[in-house]
Amino acid sequence: MSLYPQKVPFVNLSLQHQPIQSQITETLGKIIERGDFILGQALAEFETAFAAASGVQYGVGVACGTDAIALGLQACGINPGDEIIIPANTFIATIIAVIQAKAIPILVDCDPETALIDLTAAETAITSKTKAIIPVHLYGQMVSPSQLLDFANRHNLIIFEDAAQAHLAEREGYRAGAIGKAAAFSFYPSKNLGCFGDGGMLITNDAKIAEEMRTLRNYGARIKYLHTKIGTNSRLDNLQAAVLNVKLPYLEKWNRDRNLAAQHYNTLLEPLKHKGIVPIANHSGSGHIYHIYAIQITEKSPIDRNTLQQKLAQEGIETGIHYPVPCHLQPAYQNLGNPGDFPHAETLCQQILSLPIYPGLSNTQIEQVVGAIV
Ligand SMILES: *Cc1c(COP(=O)(O)O)cnc(C)c1O
Repeated sequence: MSLYPQKVPFVNLSLQHQPIQSQITETLGKIIERGDFILGQALAEFETAFAAASGVQYGVGVACGTDAIALGLQACGINPGDEIIIPANTFIATIIAVIQAKAIPILVDCDPETALIDLTAAETAITSKTKAIIPVHLYGQMVSPSQLLDFANRHNLIIFEDAAQAHLAEREGYRAGAIGKAAAFSFYPSKNLGCFGDGGMLITNDAKIAEEMRTLRNYGARIKYLHTKIGTNSRLDNLQAAVLNVKLPYLEKWNRDRNLAAQHYNTLLEPLKHKGIVPIANHSGSGHIYHIYAIQITEKSPIDRNTLQQKLAQEGIETGIHYPVPCHLQPAYQNLGNPGDFPHAETLCQQILSLPIYPGLSNTQIEQVVGAIV
């Protein structure tokens, strides 16, 4: 029945790996020969290169993005009981990390058009215990740096960026990770820059925070067997760092491809706006790196989100929902809020749909996806 016999997957990592596979296996082979697996040379190289690409001085590789936030907050001097403002509309890992750091997550609602944290709503969440704000650069779009700096300066807060979805994103002349005191990244395989397993990094311009992070990730020791902190074991493996070293030079091109794909989606979806099908707003132009391309299926739409998702699946088009249940309505986190507390986040969870996007997604595939929505 379809003009397009091909399926459209949600992501296709082999498209980006195939052209660089021999380069990767060669690099990995050398490390295996050297037996240089933990805190090795490839890691040191990647830490320097990724921090520099983000416009920041120091990088510290850790086991995953969640640890980059949890340990990073400790390295920034967050103490048990400190309150941290975070968006209700985020991946659960942001909250897990805050709780691991023994701080108290205070959720605030998001802007209904961009799905990013609403800094006006955040004003009302400030108390005498508020110590920091974690803006989440959701879907690859940064929270406005000027508004964030203004907010944090007025309330004397630490800005700790959750940039797990925003490698090299840009807005107002800043790159993701360069606004605040420190920032966390994830290299989970499907992130815009992903390794072949789990990985993460903290970046910062503060030498003391970087040093503290190096201590925390390595059993609380900078000098072997001298444990100045309790710390933990959370390091980015040298093999993973080597993969990331090969991939990093391609990242800007991959991000550009995603942004161009999003522009093509935007153009094709324009006529559907009057039917209540609306892309999540981009206020950062070419600086948005579209980790996720999400559309909102509003009440005005003749078809609801779940029905549309099933219809697309029947036509071979894979989609996702980021995220289907807001954090404060998850079974483990009901102390964070009640139904109705964060209405924009709750509505988005019911109405958003993430369309396929990845470097190498063709215009024909994008046309196929939009054709199936109409
Ligand atoms: C992926 C992600 C994380 C967690 O990173 P992991 O490497 O999976 O631990 C944190 N925050 C956001 C917004 C993410 O998308």
